[in-house]
Amino acid sequence: MPAPQAMPPGEPGELGRAFNRMADEIERTSKALREHSLKFETIIQSSPLAMIQLDSHKQVTIWNRAAERLFGWSEAEALAHPLQTVPPEKQAEHSAILVALARGETLSNLATQRLRKDGSLVHVSASMSPIRDITGAITGYTAFIADNSHIKKAEDELLAANDRLSLSVATLEQRTGELTLLGEMGNLLQACTTPPEAHHVIAQAIAKIFPGMAGALYEIPPSRDRIEPVIGWNDGDTRAEAFTMDECWALRRGCAHRVDDCATGLICGHVAAAGDAARPYLCVPLIAQGEALGLLHLRCAPGAPALSQENQRLAETIAEQIAMALSNLKLREALRQQSIRDALTGLFNRRYMDATLSREIERARRHQAPVAVLMLDIDLFKHFNDTYGHRAGDLLLTALGQFLKTQIRLDDIACRYGGEEFTLILPGASQELAQQRAEEVRANVHALAVDFAGQRLGRVTLSLGVAVFPVHGASGQAVLDAADAALYRAKENGRDRVEIAVDPATSG
Ligand code: GH3
Ligand code: MG
Ligand code: MG
Repeated sequence: MPAPQAMPPGEPGELGRAFNRMADEIERTSKALREHSLKFETIIQSSPLAMIQLDSHKQVTIWNRAAERLFGWSEAEALAHPLQTVPPEKQAEHSAILVALARGETLSNLATQRLRKDGSLVHVSASMSPIRDITGAITGYTAFIADNSHIKKAEDELLAANDRLSLSVATLEQRTGELTLLGEMGNLLQACTTPPEAHHVIAQAIAKIFPGMAGALYEIPPSRDRIEPVIGWNDGDTRAEAFTMDECWALRRGCAHRVDDCATGLICGHVAAAGDAARPYLCVPLIAQGEALGLLHLRCAPGAPALSQENQRLAETIAEQIAMALSNLKLREALRQQSIRDALTGLFNRRYMDATLSREIERARRHQAPVAVLMLDIDLFKHFNDTYGHRAGDLLLTALGQFLKTQIRLDDIACRYGGEEFTLILPGASQELAQQRAEEVRANVHALAVDFAGQRLGRVTLSLGVAVFPVHGASGQAVLDAADAALYRAKENGRDRVEIAVDPATSG
């Protein structure tokens, strides 16, 4: 506003005009100020952010509508008396903020909490700055406060979702690990050729899949009258005794039996008998092609929680794999026996004898040891068949097979060479010993008595040829030929006798 000019005396009209101009100016200025103030007020009130201003006595001087909505107190309430908007746990933080503001600092987007009129807490983001008068002195502060609760809620949900995800990833990783171990066990089981090998693979794999859990594997022998422990792991089976089928609920019912609480659960007889009925456990029958082959038993570590449903399912899958593998091994063993044994006599067949003789000769060559071969032929067997019939002849061959098994030691091999001819391989036996054994066999068979169709069959006699590696031949076939030639001589010389092969060094 320009300063009023000094009036020359005697010009009252000029003075009046000057006053009028001044009044107009004041009116214009005050209008502009009111308009400015109205604009300012509109901005404050329409702001989506809560805007609060406090003076140096902490008296609220501005409390806009957004502040009313956020805090619940009306502008009139806020202006009337101090409000408790800072929760007790944020008092220390608030004191530090006031100190910073007093130093002239500003704060941006501080994530904190404030109290509402109804006592509830609200997550907010606050930006604060000091207010100064024209001298630069701090006279209060202004705060812009945004409601952060939806962001906080989204954040919390995100964290919870992340936790759930981490948990399912961990579970998934665990399952993947278990499946990998299961796959490894399957691969190893396929490579196993004997049940004991398979038992070790199973024990090691399950100890890894269920760490800390004790366990044991049981098998049902061909007699099917009991369950026998074959292997235990993690202190799994201290009880070495067998038990009967009806001592296990899983085997009785043909499905898994889980006991979570030993005080209330139905405890299997074999668990109670082992004196260890205090720990939760699981029994899973091993069933293949509808036949129970054994039992998988898992017992929780002392103080450990019971098995989960998922673990039970996993154990059932493992049991299926084990049952399949053990059943395959049984089948393989049966086929192997069929391929190497003669069905009528139960002795090894000629193919097996050929392979074994070559192996024994090679071993004997390395150890410079002898191997004796005895060729046996039933005397006048054609006549026996003609007299008693072919079926009686078969029965005699079976009985002779049994008889020959009783005549040999564990390391010796008895084979049906073909027809009514047999071979005994005696690794390590010298010529003297072989001759002695041949004489024993020849003499002992006189006592072999066989009944057929209510009739005692006639006695049979044997002719035997004996040859010894390396004296009578340098290979398996050469020794066999020498023994066969000796047998032929035994026949020629009157049967029921033993002949030793001719020593090539002394023969003419
Ligand atoms: P030798 O004292 O000279 O050996 O007289 P042998 O009658 O025993 O000899 P031969 O070779 O003439 O006859 C063997 C007989 O053995 C002929 C055959 O009927 C009989 N035989 C061979 N295999 C079997 C079999 O599996 N079952 C029966 N029942 N007889 C068999
Ligand atoms: Mg013959
Ligand atoms: Mg004969």
